[in-house]
Amino acid sequence: MSPRAAVQARLRELAGGLLRGRRVDVFLGFRKSGIPFRARPVAFHDAEDTESLVWNSFCSHSLAAYLRDWFPVGGAAGAAATVRVGLAVKPCDARAALRLVAEGVVPRDGLFLIGIRCSGMLDRRRAEAALGRREALGAGENDGGDIRVVVDDGSEVTLPRSPLLHRVCRECREREPQGCEVVLDGADGPVDEAPAGRGPAAALSEEEVRRRVAAELARCLGCGACRSVCPLFDEEAWTGCGPVEDRAGLHAERFHHLAGRCTSCGACDRACPAGVDTLFLVRPTPAGRCPVEPAAGRNGAPSAPGGPSP
Ligand code: SF4
Ligand code: SF4
Repeated sequence: MSPRAAVQARLRELAGGLLRGRRVDVFLGFRKSGIPFRARPVAFHDAEDTESLVWNSFCSHSLAAYLRDWFPVGGAAGAAATVRVGLAVKPCDARAALRLVAEGVVPRDGLFLIGIRCSGMLDRRRAEAALGRREALGAGENDGGDIRVVVDDGSEVTLPRSPLLHRVCRECREREPQGCEVVLDGADGPVDEAPAGRGPAAALSEEEVRRRVAAELARCLGCGACRSVCPLFDEEAWTGCGPVEDRAGLHAERFHHLAGRCTSCGACDRACPAGVDTLFLVRPTPAGRCPVEPAAGRNGAPSAPGGPSP
């Protein structure tokens, strides 16, 4: 059995054992999706069903984003959990889950975290671009981690995995899940360096940040997907500083809500249909300010870096 297959088999075994032994009421994991380059998040309730659990480079969703649904009344200090949720987590997902614990949203004794060492998740847009005019009908991984794709002429194409990783994963240097009950070794080697042209806001001048923010806002569609998928953004607590089509307002709100809390999981970046660098917009300027000024940037107009961060 390959190391990749062994991790998946062990994950199935652990998840099934947790459900069978009633140590958790539900286990959040992934199942194969009918859509190429994706895996489907699933809440497993029966141990037998965990035989369909998968773990591969397509498991990019943050399962921590579903935790608010399972703990709607939060994890008040000292209160015992009324539901126990197991979940498979990448290092960034573990950080988000534990952040929710620290903030009293989720009780720690309500979680069983199975951490999986990570060497990055695939960016389906890169994979689709690598296929050119060919359309993917199905995709999987081979034992070495490269991507096997059945394309529309019936042939099979193998794409090297590393260049297809999401840009956030290529920058990530924290591959080891922390604070988990169990850690599985899912890593399979180094990834490429971060792509050129992207870097932390702190490495840029205020003027460069201003130009970059203007370019990002000009691409933004105001759909709010970056906000909805964030495991740490509480949609109910934040009804918004303005309409979602106020793109500068939306991103100023994201910044202020996520300042000092963002775990760099990249869920926002992956969800954005317009390719906006959503992480850049939640990072402070070199002077420690919000990069977006909503009042000057209504309806996505380019705006100057705004007031001081909280
Ligand atoms: S802002 Fe983006 S990268 Fe940060 S925690 Fe939210 S989804 Fe993850
Ligand atoms: S940054 Fe992307 S995901 Fe967020 S509102 Fe704009 S278009 Fe939508």
